[in-house]
Amino acid sequence: MPEPRQTLTVELGERSYPIHIGRGLLADRALLQNATAAESVMVVSNEAVAPLYLDTLKAGLAGRQVIATVLPDGEQEKRLESMLPVFDEMLVNGLGRDSAVIALGGGVIGDLAGFVAATYQRGVAFVQIPTTLLAMVDSSVGGKTGVNHPRGKNMIGAFHQPRAVVADLSVLDTLPDREMRAGMAEVIKYALLGDAAFLDWLETHLDEALAREPGVLAELVARCCRNKAAIVSADERESGQRALLNLGHTFGHAIEAARGYGDWLHGEAIAAGMCMATGMSRRLGWISPADEARATALIERAGLPTTPPADLSTARFREFMARDKKNRHGQLTLVLLKALGEAVVTTDYDDQALEATLTESAH
Ligand code: NAD
Ligand code: MG
Repeated sequence: MPEPRQTLTVELGERSYPIHIGRGLLADRALLQNATAAESVMVVSNEAVAPLYLDTLKAGLAGRQVIATVLPDGEQEKRLESMLPVFDEMLVNGLGRDSAVIALGGGVIGDLAGFVAATYQRGVAFVQIPTTLLAMVDSSVGGKTGVNHPRGKNMIGAFHQPRAVVADLSVLDTLPDREMRAGMAEVIKYALLGDAAFLDWLETHLDEALAREPGVLAELVARCCRNKAAIVSADERESGQRALLNLGHTFGHAIEAARGYGDWLHGEAIAAGMCMATGMSRRLGWISPADEARATALIERAGLPTTPPADLSTARFREFMARDKKNRHGQLTLVLLKALGEAVVTTDYDDQALEATLTESAH
C-alpha cells in the first residue's frame, strides 16, 4: 500500500508553492519533476547528509544534468565564502538561468543554497528538500535565505521563495536525537503562539513524535507547516505578524550570543527563551501560573532546557537583547503570550516584569 502523502500550499499569488509531506519522496521522479522541470540542477548538500541521501535523490532526478556540491558540515559554513565553490561549479558546467538549485540538508544548507539560487544570474528556481525537523517545520518554508557575517548571524540575505518544499519524513530516521529535540522547540512554538488545539494534540502525542512514529510525524509536520504557511502568506516580508514566529527568540538569541554559537543548539536556547517569555507573560498577569506550568512542562518533557544558563547576568541579557532586529527607536520589542495559543508582538509591557524575568529565570 502506498504511504499516505499530503500536499499543502503556501499562498503567495503567482509565487505560491506546494509543500509535499510523506515518506519516500526523495526518489519520486514524478514529484521531483513537478517540483522543478529544469533540465540542469545544482544540488547543494553537506558531508553529513550527502553520503546518506544524495544517491537516492540523484536516482529521483535521473535523466537530467545533475551537479552536486558537498560542503563541510556546520553553522560556521553558512558564510559567503562557502557560496563560491557552488557558483564555480554552476559556471563551469554551464548552468543557465533555466537551471534550478536544490537544497538537500538542514537549515544551514537550505539558507545558503537558497541565497545561491536568489543571486546566481540574478535568480534561478529553488527547491527545498529539508532533512532536519527544524528545516521541515520552519526554515524551508517562507523564503528567507542568507548567510552569516562575522559581525552577525543572517546579516546577508534575500527573500527568495522556493518553487516547492519536499519533506521526506523517512530522512528523519537518521537525525541525531539532540537535533530532533531541538527541532521540537520550534514545533512547540507554533502551538504556544497561535494554535491551542495543536497544544492539546502535542501533549498527547509528544512521546510518539520523539520516537518518530511515522503517522504522528506526518501530522506534526503538516500542522506546523500549515501554521507557518498562514503566517507567511499574511506577511511575507515581516512587516507585522510574521514577527510572532520569534516567540522565545529575543531571549533565546541572547543566550546563543552570550554562550558563543554552537554550545547550546538554537532550539535549546529558544526553549529556555519561550519559558522566559511565558514567565514574563505570567508576571504581567496575562496568563495564569497554571498556563505557565503547562507550557514549561511540555518543553521539559521534550528534553529541552527550561531556564537560561545561571551565569548569564541581567546586564548581559539586556546588552544582547538590545541588538535584536525587531527593536525600534531603542525600544525592546518582545513576543509575549496573552493566552496559551495567542501571542502578541509588543513594546507595551511593564519593565519590572522584564527585570524580574531576567533575574529570577536563571537558577
Ligand atoms: P543544520 O542544518 O546544521 O543541521 C543540524 C545537524 O544535523 C547538522 O550536523 C546536519 O549535517 C545534520 N543532519 C541534517 N539532516 C540530517 C539527517 N537527515 N540525518 C542525519 N544528520 C542530519 O541545522 P538546522 O537546525 O537544520 O538549521 C539551523 C539553521 O537554520 C540556522 O542557520 C538558522 O539560522 C536557520 N534557520 C533559518 C530559518 C529561515 O526562515 N530561513 C528559520 C529557522 C532557522
Ligand atoms: Mg528559530
